[in-house]
Amino acid sequence: MSKNTLEAHKLTISKAEMQSYGYKIVDAIVEHFDTQDTKNPVVTATREEMDNLFLENVPENGTEAHKVLDFVIDKVLTESNIVSHPKSYSFVPGPSNFISAMADTLATGFNVFSGGWAASPAATELEIVTINWLLKLFKFPNKKGGGIFTSGGSMANLTALVTARRQKCGDEFSKAIVYMSNQTHSSNIKALKTIGFKKEQVRLIPVDSDYKISINKLKNAIAKDRIEGYQPFCLIANAGTTNTGSVDQLDELAKLCKNEKLWFHVDGAYGGAAILSEKGAKLLKGIQKADSLTIDPHKWFFQPYEMGCLLVRDHKWLSSTFSEKPEYLRDIEGNTSEINFYDHGIQLTRRFRALKFYMSIKTFGLKAFREAITYNIDLAEAVEDILRKSSDWEIVSHATLAVINFRYNPIKKQFSEKKLDTLNQEISKRVIGTKKALLVTTVLQGQVVLRMCLINPRTTIEDVKETLDRCLSFAELCLD
Ligand SMILES: *Cc1c(COP(=O)(O)O)cnc(C)c1O
Repeated sequence: MSKNTLEAHKLTISKAEMQSYGYKIVDAIVEHFDTQDTKNPVVTATREEMDNLFLENVPENGTEAHKVLDFVIDKVLTESNIVSHPKSYSFVPGPSNFISAMADTLATGFNVFSGGWAASPAATELEIVTINWLLKLFKFPNKKGGGIFTSGGSMANLTALVTARRQKCGDEFSKAIVYMSNQTHSSNIKALKTIGFKKEQVRLIPVDSDYKISINKLKNAIAKDRIEGYQPFCLIANAGTTNTGSVDQLDELAKLCKNEKLWFHVDGAYGGAAILSEKGAKLLKGIQKADSLTIDPHKWFFQPYEMGCLLVRDHKWLSSTFSEKPEYLRDIEGNTSEINFYDHGIQLTRRFRALKFYMSIKTFGLKAFREAITYNIDLAEAVEDILRKSSDWEIVSHATLAVINFRYNPIKKQFSEKKLDTLNQEISKRVIGTKKALLVTTVLQGQVVLRMCLINPRTTIEDVKETLDRCLSFAELCLD
């Protein structure tokens, strides 16, 4: 870049250059939104290939801005899976939406500090407003309830478990025991590890045949721990497991937690958003009784990364857990209704996450989100119908909250379990090999199965049919 336009030592460029640079970025994003469905969702590359593209020493001297940008658009952004692609069925897709992507761009562009009231009253207010929307949606106590946006579900679970421990155990937690089913997301175990719980303090309770926590086994474990002098203190229940979309018996578990004086944390990072649909709301009955609830707007609330959320029944639990009063923050303390979110969680400096949630819901209306989620749940059920009608497929766990697990298991062939595992693994591998669909396996009760997570509102039944046909043709190839 020429000297007169780039004041490099101030890290600035001219207004005209900012415009042409910025417009190119907007054009690239718009082009991506417009064409992503027609691209291949899968990329694969080795470390060596990536090293060959990117490895270099830190450049002491600058390069022309557009040259760097063009390189990034061509070489960096093209080397990621498109998780918002209609045929990206695996893990938990990230359908995202354009309005929120632009909102995030604004939040970053203005570099809004979303930590405290004094720094950004409007950003804080929007977080309060949108958290209140969510509290209402989940029927949490309206005035008393509270919450905070986090980077994702993992951080929301971590924030919840720190809060639970502070409220239930104080500083002494060497005998404290946490319960969860063996289908619970690994981020909860990671969080417990992070905050100093030993493996021996975590009870992984087996599930019933429908992948819900076995309440009898849970009760027995709690009773046994009490007899042995431990302190049962927290249950983590699932509102949509990542594997199968299964929802633990929330109503019953709420009662049990009340009787046993356990903290009732619900991990709804995957399934929580389903509260917006009729079927989902029915399945999630009892979720409003959680002491703390993790949801993950960057999954099924269609937000771009990163955005998680923790809701609590009593906002004071957060402030009494996290608030510290260092002298350098003295001047921004404000009055009690003017919340400082740095007092409600782990981060001090926080990006303005509420903005994308606010703008996308204002723009599309909550109704659009309801319809999208309802469509997703119905789509998975329609896929189940198709699979059931064919003698080639076996349903391993039925469509629940837009997740379905199945495997190739033709009735006529009578394959051994081992052969079925290899076949289904191979089908997934070959489908991914085409780069036209992202479909990986999971393991349920020792069986390798194909798992589809259908939370993209742009995925059609035709997309799924085409992928299933592809699977079948690969299965037949494997048998030749
Ligand atoms: C995805 C997920 C998490 C972790 O959330 P991140 O946003 O990936 O950190 C936690 N629990 C469940 C049930 C999930 O599906």
